[in-house]
Amino acid sequence: MFARVIVDISNTNVDRLFTYSVPEQLKVAPGQRVLVPFGRGNKPIEGFVIALSDESGTSHAVKPIIRTLEPYTVLTAEQLGLSEWICSAYHCTRADSLRGMIPAKLRGSRVKEKTVRTLRLSPSADRSEFIAGITAKDGGIKAPKQLEVFDLLDHPNAEYSSADICAFIPGASAAISALVKKGVLIEAGREAYRDPFAGRDVEPTLPLPLLPAQEQALKTICTAEPGEVLLLHGVTGSGKTEVYMQAISAELEKGRGAIVLVPEISLTPQTTDRFRSRFGDSVAVLHSHLSDGERFDEWRRIRFSKARVVIGARSAVFAPVEELGIIIIDEEHESSYQSELTPKYSAIEVARRRARLTGARLVLGSATPSLTSYYRAKRGMYKLIELKERINGDAMPRVDIVDMRAEYRSGNNGIFSALLREALSACLERKEQAILFLNRRGYSSHVECRACGFVFTCVSCDVAMTYHKFDNVLRCHYCGTSSCVPNKCPSCGSEFVKFSGIGTQQVEEQLHELFPSIRTLRMDTDTTGGKNSHRDILDSFTRGDADVLIGTQMVAKGLDIPNVTLVGVVFADSTLFHSDYRSSERTFQLLTQVAGRAGRADKEGRVVIQTNAPEHRAIALCTRHDYKTFFNLEIKDRLHTLFPPFSVFARALFTSKSEDEAAEAAGRFSEGVTQRILGVLTDFSAQDELIFVMPGAAPIRKREGEYRYAVIIKLARTAHTAKAIEAIYAYANEKPEDALRSIEINPQDML
Ligand code: ADP
Ligand code: ZN
Ligand code: ZN
Repeated sequence: MFARVIVDISNTNVDRLFTYSVPEQLKVAPGQRVLVPFGRGNKPIEGFVIALSDESGTSHAVKPIIRTLEPYTVLTAEQLGLSEWICSAYHCTRADSLRGMIPAKLRGSRVKEKTVRTLRLSPSADRSEFIAGITAKDGGIKAPKQLEVFDLLDHPNAEYSSADICAFIPGASAAISALVKKGVLIEAGREAYRDPFAGRDVEPTLPLPLLPAQEQALKTICTAEPGEVLLLHGVTGSGKTEVYMQAISAELEKGRGAIVLVPEISLTPQTTDRFRSRFGDSVAVLHSHLSDGERFDEWRRIRFSKARVVIGARSAVFAPVEELGIIIIDEEHESSYQSELTPKYSAIEVARRRARLTGARLVLGSATPSLTSYYRAKRGMYKLIELKERINGDAMPRVDIVDMRAEYRSGNNGIFSALLREALSACLERKEQAILFLNRRGYSSHVECRACGFVFTCVSCDVAMTYHKFDNVLRCHYCGTSSCVPNKCPSCGSEFVKFSGIGTQQVEEQLHELFPSIRTLRMDTDTTGGKNSHRDILDSFTRGDADVLIGTQMVAKGLDIPNVTLVGVVFADSTLFHSDYRSSERTFQLLTQVAGRAGRADKEGRVVIQTNAPEHRAIALCTRHDYKTFFNLEIKDRLHTLFPPFSVFARALFTSKSEDEAAEAAGRFSEGVTQRILGVLTDFSAQDELIFVMPGAAPIRKREGEYRYAVIIKLARTAHTAKAIEAIYAYANEKPEDALRSIEINPQDML
């Protein structure tokens, strides 16, 4: 017997199947990890068995597999097929695609099953003999604790860890040691799953009787074709999650499993608790805040089908769920579903592929679908389901917009408008809570006039120009146009031109100046470093430990706190003028999301949005919660400016310690790839399809000592786009540049 093995080395030179012989006694199956001798030195290397064969297929001598690494297959047959697709879709090595499907620490065996040391009564222990041994001359018991422990364990099935015994009999540890010494207690061991939910019990819930619209949505999902994609567009609080849960129940009844993806920031205990309340121990979670051991154990519970409902962030799309029935991607518009690491996959695209491979249904849910998804639904590629009303019949919260330019003109150049100050003070008086939301994304900053709100935008792309400290210019990320930094506003002549960017800390300080007795909590990347800090901050705020929670986009989602009646958006424009063609879409999504957080219980909610651009549709339409109008206007703009979904961007990134080298590599690549694309498209109207190829310094020109240059290729989306993209990768393979770091299609970030 021979095995075809992918060695676990991420290098294109060894990215192919190697053949090994399978020793007589060894049981090996495709999907299993093995140790194989590799290279001239026969160094033992870990690898994945992809297939078995009776023939070696070579005249060379083949080496034998050394041993298997786990007694079970770490990859299912379906995952092996999926990994092949990942390689071709995202141009990574097979090893890269397989690594993403197993817990990272499994490689190199850096994580192990956990056995807890447990204690049981020795079979020879005899109660009366034992009591005789601890009875004093006067007939009293000398060691009552020992007797208590003895009695606790005096049962055929009694086997507990010493921690469990001590939880039951406080202060029993000395007694336990004494009993072990005497041989009355003996050690046993048993395997345990590390439980990320330990100490967090939930009350079971039953499915709620659905409202007619929910009923209809559920029916549409349950009767969808295998592999079909459904877009569930439902306002916040319209009962999407209840629909998800009942759709999952239906699959579980048929013996099929489910994967639910939520954005990492939404993986709060509240979210997972709702699923655990419904599905109990069948729920497993996968996210970055688990310890290595917890992740390994959750993964094994899924692999061995002990858990059938997986809730996780992006990478959980690879979870080894067998008999997959449904994949749900909540908040599908979130950019975090796009991976920034190799392979640079989109969880939505992978989910679509998995649904097709397994016959599962894919449900994309959002209150503000991505323009691309909604466009696809409109064109009939996805089935559109709508939930238009909130469950409790509540109106959406009242949203007020404050024009900060007017505030400035009336002499207020602080962070808070008069309206927000008033609303805060009223909220504090009522002993209710507020969230202040501040968005700071990425590293880029735009330049704007504080007096009139004028923002410096690119003439040809209509996105905000980004300030580059290095050469003190403003530059457009899409076409490379640059201009010098003005010291006067070209629109109103004011000299109060400034770079945007207020920090959470600044907000907190000003808040304390305004309301000296206010209690605040801050949630941003500075305060959420630790394992549980994100959860801790939320728990603490939910308990009422603070009046105001100040945070970046992390606070925008996933929390549902009844006592929060005010949401203040300190500065709405910071995403609006992020120099990205999606900024308007993202701002609308974010503000709608944030607005949905206010007043979700019986109390009335209120939202105050501070902005320099009150007339911008992303802000104006958000007050009416009007997604459809927003979509219709925005999609027209995309068509006119030829941005996705009407075009495709490819971005090749070059980095080097030498700036010249990075710049030259980008230049060479740009010329070569242009010729190659035009060559492939000759038969078609190539000129129209290749919109531009643009080499230049990346917005972040230098990072960690490396200079960064990028080539951005913009293609019209036509029937030949795939060929053009293929040509880009083919060119990169044939003319390898040392400095080439990555090629990405429609990257979420152009930085
Ligand atoms: P979404 O996911 O769309 O934001 P949820 O599923 O969280 O909405 O529902 C909002 C609230 O309404 C939750 O508290 C949920 O328990 C409740 N809910 C959902 N469906 C029903 C129903 N059919 N009957 C009563 N309450 C419901
Ligand atoms: Zn431009
Ligand atoms: Zn101005």
